[in-house]
Amino acid sequence: MDENVQNKDIILEVKGLKKYFPIEKNLFGKTLRSLRAVDDVSFAVARGTTIGVVGESGCGKTTLGRTILKLYQADGGTIVYNGEDITDIGKKKMRALRTSIQLIFQDPYSSLPPRMTVGAIISEAVRVHHIVPKDEIRQYVRDIMHKCGLQPQYYDRYPHEFSGGQRQRICIARALAVKPDLVICDEPVSALDVSIQAQIINLLKELQNTMGLTYVFISHDLSVVKYITDQILVMYLGNMMELGETEELFANPLHPYTKALFSAVPVPDPDLKMDRIILAGDIPSPANPPKGCKFHTRCRDCMNVCRFKEPAFVEVGPEHKVACHLYDQEVMQHLEEYDREWARMEEERLQQEAEKEAKRKGKRSKTAQNAPAAEAVEPDEALDDEQ
Ligand code: SF4
Repeated sequence: MDENVQNKDIILEVKGLKKYFPIEKNLFGKTLRSLRAVDDVSFAVARGTTIGVVGESGCGKTTLGRTILKLYQADGGTIVYNGEDITDIGKKKMRALRTSIQLIFQDPYSSLPPRMTVGAIISEAVRVHHIVPKDEIRQYVRDIMHKCGLQPQYYDRYPHEFSGGQRQRICIARALAVKPDLVICDEPVSALDVSIQAQIINLLKELQNTMGLTYVFISHDLSVVKYITDQILVMYLGNMMELGETEELFANPLHPYTKALFSAVPVPDPDLKMDRIILAGDIPSPANPPKGCKFHTRCRDCMNVCRFKEPAFVEVGPEHKVACHLYDQEVMQHLEEYDREWARMEEERLQQEAEKEAKRKGKRSKTAQNAPAAEAVEPDEALDDEQ
């Protein structure tokens, strides 16, 4: 455990977490190819703070949240929650933990059962997990609703009677009713109008202060992330690109991907000219990611070494880490050697391609030579047919 982590009250520590989905299997069920949705992700979250997980769609942030929640079984690494390794925990023990770790979904429209009243939705888990005595449930739920900005008289209403913002409040009330310590918020405001987003974010902040909650806040909206988080983890194609405290990361983003993402955050100053970095090309398929640095196909600082050597996650400051060769002294000092290595690899590749092409041409000319002989057989065959 690193020194910074040791000095804090850590509620969640994730080390080298991996989640792969098989995409090709052989006849015997052995996985031949897999999609690396989360690959070697590590971070720690102190109690009562928020970590933001950001990146483009398909970068693995939702899979990361679901793997921490154990909705997916991890394929490698460890998840330590409150000092206990829960990576391979049994179902029985996990059931007890279910109340401590909660999830707020992205879509408040589809995540609420339409045939249940608000009271029934919020009280269901309270009843199952015996959070309060039976005769106190109604009052307890009404109090939670009040905390989340919902009128207690809405208790007997159905989800379709509410707006998007109110529905998200119901989702938050449902998650908080079981007294969790850690809440995974999976894009909790992206389905809402901007004015409602601010209300929900303020509500989450307020509840964090009053209830001492810890959040893993997954989002692609950096303005929201800047406002609510204490540290930020930037992901790209399942890998960590940069990790640091929010203020430090916004003031001094280092990874070319982080710089591009942050350059798109709108600034509330009409006179300020935004120096926006437009990323070229599309995000590559996670099923077939590029070799070396996964970002090299879109990076404007790409060097030869980036095309074949995966960057290490190096510490560049207190609690600031980045996975980029530009900040790895060992790599930068030996750039000429890596250039020579790349030139040698390219030469080998071109030679192999030339050999393949020559073989293909040889085969084609052989078939062309055999073709007249085949034709010569045809008259005999025709004779046979006549007889
Ligand atoms: Fe760009 Fe190379 Fe850094 Fe990757 S390792 S982000 S390709 S400079």
